[in-house]
Amino acid sequence: MSSMIKCKECGGSNPVSTRICEFCGNVFSVEGKTLNDELAELNLTFDKLKAFPSPGLLDSFKNNAKFSMPILTLVSAFLTYKINGLFSIPGIIFLVSAVRALFTKKQNLLGDFKSDKSLFTAQLASLFGLYGKDPATNARLLQIEKEFKSLNGLYKQSKIFEFITYGILLTLFAGAYLVPATKTEAEMAKEIIATESSILSIVDSLLSEKNYDAANYLIKNLKSNEVIIELKSKIQFAQLESKIKSAEINLINSNFEAAKNELSSTLWKKNATDIDLEFIEEKYYKNYIQLKENMNERLPISYKVKVESDIDY
Ligand SMILES: [Zn+2]
Repeated sequence: MSSMIKCKECGGSNPVSTRICEFCGNVFSVEGKTLNDELAELNLTFDKLKAFPSPGLLDSFKNNAKFSMPILTLVSAFLTYKINGLFSIPGIIFLVSAVRALFTKKQNLLGDFKSDKSLFTAQLASLFGLYGKDPATNARLLQIEKEFKSLNGLYKQSKIFEFITYGILLTLFAGAYLVPATKTEAEMAKEIIATESSILSIVDSLLSEKNYDAANYLIKNLKSNEVIIELKSKIQFAQLESKIKSAEINLINSNFEAAKNELSSTLWKKNATDIDLEFIEEKYYKNYIQLKENMNERLPISYKVKVESDIDY
C-alpha cells in the first residue's frame, strides 16, 4: 500500500500525511528527507525574509521613484514660478531622478517579500501537519512562527510607509498647486504703507517741536507715495499754521499791515500727483483754508486778503 508508510521502529502502518508513528511516537523520514532537512529548507526561506531591509519613509520615496519624482518635479515647478526661482534647483534634481527612474528596473522589495512570505507560510503549514503531533517539534515550529510574525509586522509597517508617502506627495502637490502666486504689486505696496505708517507718529512728535527739517529728512527714505504725501501735507500744514499764528500775533499788536502780509504770503503748495494722493492731501488743505479764513475774518476790512476756496485745490 503506497498510501501508507511503515514505521521502522515498530512496523506499524501510518498515513502519508504524518511523519509521527501513531503507534510508538517515532519520528520517521520519507525518501531520505529527515525532519532536519525540512527545517533547513524552512530556515532558508526564513533567512531570505529576514534579509529584506525594512524600508523607512525615505526608502519608500526611492522605491516609488517613478511616481514620487515626477510629482516632486511638478511641485518644484509650481513653486519656482509662484514663489522663488531658487525652487528650480531641487526641481532639476527631481527631474533627473524622475528620468533615471524611468530607465531603472523597479526593485519591488515588498513584492519579493510577499512571494517569499507565501512560500514560507506553506512550508510551515506543511511541517505543522507532518510533525505537529510531536511536542518537541511542535514547540520548535511555534518558536519559528513567532519570529516570523514579528518580521511580518515590519512588512506591514512598510505598507503604511508607502501610504504615508502617497499622502505626503499628494498633499505637497495640492499645496503647491493652490498656493497663491507671490504678492502682486498692489499687495506689496499695502505692506509698505503698513510698515511706514509707524513713521507718521515720529513725524508728529518732530512737528510738535517745530523740527521741520528732521521731519522732511525722514520722508527721503520712504517708498510709499501714500505715506510720503500724508507726511508732506502734515509738515506743510504745520508750517502754514505757524505762519498764521504769527499773523495773529501781529493782529493782536494792531500791526495790521504785517498781519496782512504774513497771511497773504501763506499759500498751499500742492504735492499730490494723482486722485488717490489728492484725496490724502485734501483733508490737510481744507483744515488750512479753515484756519486762514478764520484769521482773515478777524482782520479789519481794508486789510483783508483773498483766501483760496475748497474748489481751488
Ligand atoms: Zn512505530
